[in-house]
Amino acid sequence: MTYDDKNIFAKILRAEIPATRVYEDNDTLCFMDIFPRADGHCLVIPKTPCRNLLDASPVQLAGVMATTQKVANAAMAALEADGITVQQFNEGPGGQEVFHLHFHILPRWTGVSLRPPGQPGDMARIGEVADKLRAALI
Ligand code: AMP
Repeated sequence: MTYDDKNIFAKILRAEIPATRVYEDNDTLCFMDIFPRADGHCLVIPKTPCRNLLDASPVQLAGVMATTQKVANAAMAALEADGITVQQFNEGPGGQEVFHLHFHILPRWTGVSLRPPGQPGDMARIGEVADKLRAALI
């Protein structure tokens, strides 16, 4: 399996398509998922190419995990979440749809289930939540 730089997250990294960016450093980017399964659902990706966990380098993994932890803690504080679910899928049979490594950050609240996948979010609401996350990351 080889990396295809026409995937949608590579296009976001090259700013060829828009994304609601939450946080970035030299090595990673976090942006909002546009089909959010929870308020604050966002994705963390490395800025360098790899398909998923199976071909990522230890350096890429260290970068995305550090950013995942940082944004997860920001979500707990900014959104008053009760917990965080982190998801990561590998290859089609493993549930992966976009073939650039990414970790899902899903804030959780007691008694609130995840929404079904594939439902477009309200972009105004996604923007409001992103603002709260950004404010907690300063
Ligand atoms: P998966 O590869 O199964 O981990 O899922 C890919 C995720 O990317 C899904 O949660 C989609 O909702 C999300 N997604 C797809 N296209 C975009 C996009 N243009 N901007 C933000 N999130 C996206």
